[in-house]
Amino acid sequence: MPSRVFMTDLSAGWKKNVSTKITELFETLDPANYFNPGDLIAVKIHFGERGNTAYIRPQFVRCIIDRLSQLKVKPFLTDTNTLYVGSRAEAQSHLCTAFDNGFTREITGAPVIIADGLRGNNGVEVTVNGSHVKRAHIGSDIHNADGLVVLTHFKGHELSAFGGALKNVGMGCAAREGKLEQHSNISPKVSKKKCIGCGECVVWCRGGAIELHEVRSGRKAEINPENCIGCAECILTCRQKAIQIQWNESVPIFMEKMVEYAAAVLNHKQEKTVFMTFVTNVSPLCDCTPFSDRPIVPDLGILASSDPVAIDQAAVDLVNNSPGNPISCLESALSPGEDKFRSLYPKIDWAHQLAYAERIGLGTRDYVLEKLE
Ligand code: SF4
Ligand code: SF4
Repeated sequence: MPSRVFMTDLSAGWKKNVSTKITELFETLDPANYFNPGDLIAVKIHFGERGNTAYIRPQFVRCIIDRLSQLKVKPFLTDTNTLYVGSRAEAQSHLCTAFDNGFTREITGAPVIIADGLRGNNGVEVTVNGSHVKRAHIGSDIHNADGLVVLTHFKGHELSAFGGALKNVGMGCAAREGKLEQHSNISPKVSKKKCIGCGECVVWCRGGAIELHEVRSGRKAEINPENCIGCAECILTCRQKAIQIQWNESVPIFMEKMVEYAAAVLNHKQEKTVFMTFVTNVSPLCDCTPFSDRPIVPDLGILASSDPVAIDQAAVDLVNNSPGNPISCLESALSPGEDKFRSLYPKIDWAHQLAYAERIGLGTRDYVLEKLE
């Protein structure tokens, strides 16, 4: 049976603004049916790296928090710390970044709790018995919450081609150990032939894993797999295309691990999780980068569903069926119906994450889109 995905577009006027539309969209999910008074509700969101500007506006989050507060539940905004060294690598910096990006209680109406604690090691082991992951490490304050509202900013991603609800839950709710486990097979290799020793990758490596070494043919980059956190940043950085991973082997396994982590989070919150996805500012890279490049499509709308697979499928279909932004980095697939994410990341089969999630019972790719007036 197809899942229902509700959608509101972003048209606005004197009678209705976008905030009102978000409130109405959230109501289609019937949150009163999911959550009970007194429930501690984790509102999972990405606060945006410092310098990023594509994340969901805190003012929009307020609409959802206000409704949750009316239901007498206790919402808190949450995310986990990052693996790489950046502005959200531990809770002190993460909180400062979240506040500086506007996610204060004054604006959103909810406090912020970093779910995996000060240094990212406050996780709970959850049995999942997947093909790759047996016991997942989930940020304890997400695991311990009574329910979950997953707010996702839909955008491109260097490893999964797009970042949607499954990624927001699978990677975004994992404690540091869990993130490492998911990235563990993504250790890129440097082609000595192509490397010109410019050192650019050394500067950008988020794990401090790359060093330059003098060899017979000159200065070459070398990756120490012990320090590599599999963030894939170096692949994007190298203009010589000297750094590559085993796309065919590594990326599908990465996606499957991510989806198994999503299962570890969601299986524990059955009938207590809803999803809203903002198909707005669809930047080519994820919100973990300290910048946001021009969106690849116009702002398309906001989706709501109780099915994470259906909402991701609906979001990717919306983007691919839209005309591309001719002044973005999108070099092809500008016509409606052409695959924007394949154009951005030709070696990544984005559909694999959805097919695998469907296979392990997280939802269905078959959906009905119901547009709100
Ligand atoms: S960025 Fe590329 S060319 Fe430059 S040092 Fe790194 S691998 Fe070599
Ligand atoms: S994937 Fe590349 S940038 Fe990321 S930690 Fe490993 S070597 Fe460094």
